[in-house]
Amino acid sequence: MTPRSLYLHIPFCRRKCFYCDFAITTGGRGLMAEYVQVLCEEIRDTIANLPGRGSLETVFLGGGTPSLLGGEEIAAILQTLGEGWDLVPGAEISLEANPGTVSLESLQSYRARGINRISLGAQAFQDHLLDRCGRGHSVADIYEAVALIRQAGFANFNLDLISGLPHQTLPDWEESLHQTIALAPTHVSVYDLTIEAGTAFAKRYQPGCAPLPSEELTVEMYKLAHRVLTEAGYRHYEISNYAKPGYECRHNITYWRNQPFYGFGMSAASYVHHWRWERPRKIREYINLVRHKQYPPPVPEKINDRLFDTLMQGLRLAEGIELAVLHQEFGEEKIAQVCQQLQKFVDRGWVQIDHRLRLLPLEGWLFSDLVNLSLLELLGTRE
Ligand code: SF4
Repeated sequence: MTPRSLYLHIPFCRRKCFYCDFAITTGGRGLMAEYVQVLCEEIRDTIANLPGRGSLETVFLGGGTPSLLGGEEIAAILQTLGEGWDLVPGAEISLEANPGTVSLESLQSYRARGINRISLGAQAFQDHLLDRCGRGHSVADIYEAVALIRQAGFANFNLDLISGLPHQTLPDWEESLHQTIALAPTHVSVYDLTIEAGTAFAKRYQPGCAPLPSEELTVEMYKLAHRVLTEAGYRHYEISNYAKPGYECRHNITYWRNQPFYGFGMSAASYVHHWRWERPRKIREYINLVRHKQYPPPVPEKINDRLFDTLMQGLRLAEGIELAVLHQEFGEEKIAQVCQQLQKFVDRGWVQIDHRLRLLPLEGWLFSDLVNLSLLELLGTRE
């Protein structure tokens, strides 16, 4: 299968949020200009090896904060993609933005260049919580950004929220959910905070200990998000994602269905014809790699790794995975072993196996880590 989705990593942020473990840099305008040049060079190097022109259904500019780039830089990147790929009519072209980094002018210029979906990192609707996360923007900035997104003509936009923040209470969370609904995004992503090693939060907080909410409270928050958002007409179509009908994120569905994709830029991963590769997470290493054309050879994927990824990703979706598709790709014997391994979760009411294999909301989604662990025991781990 030829990739029909493409990810572009724009690693620049004004400052680093205290919980963030993404590959980012806080470099200034000069470095941004150099990066865009190198990114276009990497794209051209791939195009040079394509068997022919491809077509794309989704493009996602993520980061970092892609909204720190100007319209001309976005245009240069999209034009470079146009040298190798056509966009299918109605292609989804998303750009991640942060409050406080957008203007009417910048949003209008993105739209004029073909961006048709904005994903805005709101995270919380309490200034003291935003402050404690090092977010660098206020609640007022969220409202202003949404007003500008609408004014610029974007009908399709996502808001990101985080639950389980230090000092966050259930009423805070409920307020954030209601404020989100009042802004009427087409899509809402709800992530539960994970304390990642090496972040500022990891130095300050112990998972499960105050001022972080208890595990019971984060479960309450998850259930509350489900109730409030589904009552407001959002479909809970993936463990952490909600959408108005027809506004599911097509780009991310590519990942959840374990379909192939290209990724360009620092830290970006690609998955093409069952081979995977990834770019360096440090900006100088990435720039040198592209400048000197020292691309490492792709790594072929082992069949058990592919099956594990297909299951782990596919089980995130409410639709689950069609059994016939699994049989065709991995053989009936292997899938029978998987079903046998999952039988204990079927008995607990977390997993359903009929013509599809799926986790049952909400209990199955709440215990997805245990299901994944059990699949890992069966299928082994990557070396
Ligand atoms: S804005 Fe996003 S990518 Fe940038 S530092 Fe904050 S969490 Fe990380």
